[in-house]
Amino acid sequence: MTIQTVSAEQCFSWAHDITYCPDYLTLTPVFISLLHTLEWVHTADAYEIYDTSKTKFTTDIDSLQLHITKLPLDFGNDENTNNHPPALNNPLPKTIEITHENGLHHAILPVATDSGPDRAILVKGLFNDDAVTLLSHLLKLYRNQVILHDHKERDVLTNLPNRQSLEMRLMEVCDYYQRNKHTQFEASEQLKYSWIAVLDIDHFKRVNDNFGHLYGDEVLLHFSQLMQRKFRHIDFLFRYGGEEFVVILNRVNATDARTVFDRFRSAVETYNFPLVGKVTVSIGVTCIQGSTILPMTLLDRADKSLYYAKEHGRNQVVMYEDMEVIAEDTDNDLNDIELF
Ligand code: GH3
Ligand code: MG
Ligand code: MG
Repeated sequence: MTIQTVSAEQCFSWAHDITYCPDYLTLTPVFISLLHTLEWVHTADAYEIYDTSKTKFTTDIDSLQLHITKLPLDFGNDENTNNHPPALNNPLPKTIEITHENGLHHAILPVATDSGPDRAILVKGLFNDDAVTLLSHLLKLYRNQVILHDHKERDVLTNLPNRQSLEMRLMEVCDYYQRNKHTQFEASEQLKYSWIAVLDIDHFKRVNDNFGHLYGDEVLLHFSQLMQRKFRHIDFLFRYGGEEFVVILNRVNATDARTVFDRFRSAVETYNFPLVGKVTVSIGVTCIQGSTILPMTLLDRADKSLYYAKEHGRNQVVMYEDMEVIAEDTDNDLNDIELF
């Protein structure tokens, strides 16, 4: 199909499919399937490119690298994340770039926006000039929708996905563990799960009171960038609201989850926030597993653990599963602990 042979009806149908998607998570697979319907397209894949060296407050040498993620991210499998085309290691082109390899054309469709990570669609096939023109028209439609979804689904201050994105993402992760629940009854240290954590900055009100709202915002910005540097690109990070953030940590066992969150807590404690100086964070964590787990239950459990951390001195990580053990040891029902 070339640009001349596309009917008005076909154009409207594509426009409908692209604009119908309610969120970014559903938009990208729809756009990729649309590209696959073009007979001269052999493969089409979407990638997100996180260039942590672009972040404003980079100080760590370990952060100066590109993280390239293929979409949709398979958080149930940690082996597919480093397998990206070398072409994406270079700076993204401003417009569609065509190369020729093994008898096929390779097109990089750049989707640069100010609102989220750089993104690119990689298309392989046999393209003439009309095909490239058609790709560029479709790319414009897609990019506009990406920007719209970013505005709705990302937080303005930190650019992290917001609470609304968390709800969609958590639903997706819960569905995954529901479908794969057969692997979960053999609870063992070796098995890798996903974990959800609520992170709440300690005594943040004092930061605002002592230094003003602008410096409060600056702390939130530094905090979010520290998160982006310290967690992996296969983890999901969100600004939940105010000085509360959420992390979905994927594919780790209980011991590693504890270590990772405590390492982050410690990174915050030792970080030198401009003017404000030292800031600490309390973290409540729970495991995403089990056959009847609902997103709201998980958030509630992480919140209870956070509350426990706040009540027991702050600047610490509390795991809901550990609190269950404490409750059993003291012969108490967890729900009866007066703190809750
Ligand atoms: P705790 O250790 O118990 O969490 O104490 P806290 O002071 O952090 O908690 P509290 O909920 O009492 O206060 C949170 C403060 O966060 C109050 C609010 O003014 C501030 N805040 C919420 N959103 C923003 C924001 O976007 N920017 C700034 N600067 N402050 C915010
Ligand atoms: Mg709070
Ligand atoms: Mg707080």
